[in-house]
Amino acid sequence: MIDIVLSLFLTVLVQAIFPFRQAIDLGSIRERLAAHFGHIQIDERPDPVSQFVGSFIGSRTYDWKSWDAFMLLVRRYPNWDSIADAHVTDIESTLEGVTYSEKKAPELKRALCAIRDSFGRIDLDFLAKYDVDQALNCLEKIHGVSPKIASATLNFSTLRMRTFVVDTHVLRVLQRFGFVGMKADIKTTYDAVMAAADGLGSDDLFELHWHIKSLGQTICTLAKAMCVSCPLSDICQRGVENVKILKAFGDKLGIQEKSIRTPIGHGEVDLCLKGGLQHGVLHEVFASVGHETAATGFVAGLANRVTTGKYSLWIRQDFSTREFGELSPAGLLELGLDPAHMLLLSVSNASDGLRAANDALSCSALGAVVIEIPGSPKTLDLTASRRLTLAAAQKSVTAFLLRLTAQPDASAAETRWLVRAAASQTQNDDWGRPTFEASLIRNRSGNTGHWFMEWDCDERIFQSSTADHGALVSAIAN
Ligand code: SF4
Repeated sequence: MIDIVLSLFLTVLVQAIFPFRQAIDLGSIRERLAAHFGHIQIDERPDPVSQFVGSFIGSRTYDWKSWDAFMLLVRRYPNWDSIADAHVTDIESTLEGVTYSEKKAPELKRALCAIRDSFGRIDLDFLAKYDVDQALNCLEKIHGVSPKIASATLNFSTLRMRTFVVDTHVLRVLQRFGFVGMKADIKTTYDAVMAAADGLGSDDLFELHWHIKSLGQTICTLAKAMCVSCPLSDICQRGVENVKILKAFGDKLGIQEKSIRTPIGHGEVDLCLKGGLQHGVLHEVFASVGHETAATGFVAGLANRVTTGKYSLWIRQDFSTREFGELSPAGLLELGLDPAHMLLLSVSNASDGLRAANDALSCSALGAVVIEIPGSPKTLDLTASRRLTLAAAQKSVTAFLLRLTAQPDASAAETRWLVRAAASQTQNDDWGRPTFEASLIRNRSGNTGHWFMEWDCDERIFQSSTADHGALVSAIAN
């Protein structure tokens, strides 16, 4: 009896001290993220030296930029020895565009020379004979090699060793989650993950890293934690608090519905949208005449906000391509968007596009469906917009109707925007951020308004533009 009372007491005590006991359960984090982002299976891995070099040049740089730089490097130099022997300025010019290329170039050369001097040649396959700690130790002894580079070399490459990569995204998410303290560093976080990773193999840790990183890039970003859209919100320390605060805020504003909303980032706009862009409904974006490209970029940004790591489908008529040009993957990359997460469907007319959109909206693997329709075809009437609204509600996939060279007419859309390009704030050689003059001319849930907004390509959110000298917000809810 005393044992039972004691054990109950200890359970209550443990729960009181660690109200988020689940925080140490990596398994549930993993399962939730896999359900949200889907499992990752990569059969082909790079050899250890390629991964080492890729990780070396990749820190604090977009994945696609560092990949481009890596490809330039391997095209320019026939082997690793020739990079080790190259002049630093040549390496630096090849790494142009990579953050801190001026520091990375000499350090990469030095690291490759150190591998050659220590092990006779630039080859890291021998690490397979070591245990993980020995291998990490061996790599971290090389000047400029961080624990992150060392772990990535061992886990991401063909070595497939059982270790975990903690980068800045992973660190931020695990800190906010409460898995480690807010002041924890990469080493402490690595130790905490490995201590709780019983039962997780090398590939599990590989997938866990990429899932947490994706969460950090799309939902738990540096600028904002979008807890309402987060699959961890009910087991995350900060998420539980944030959702409680948002709920209280929603109650104050009289929002009864349980709709999911993702903030677009611009404070005033999010206030008008009662917390953010609603998922599972139809949003319309009209391009001002001659501003079709700006409206396209604006929709791409909005769609990215609600997809949170899922795919989006962009349905275009062939006519759009002839009239307004192709959707450019390079342009999407410049906006900080991943073209690999966007599927493109070409259709010959508006009826086919609407039919495809209604089908696609029932696919929960998609986060957003963009239907680009030029002109005002008869098939796009109030009934068609109601069909899209109903289809979007089924699986909470968000529909965006991009209207080019068209006038607003009757529709069941939740919001309607009118968009034109605005001048970016340039500084020195920097072209500045893409800037939009956007009018929210219909909002079924709140006020309308007119703002200048910048798209932050790093954080992938809209922000207030310095061109905005006071937003005009109407008092009338549509
Ligand atoms: S619930 Fe919020 S704070 Fe927690 S991981 Fe998700 S977005 Fe980040």
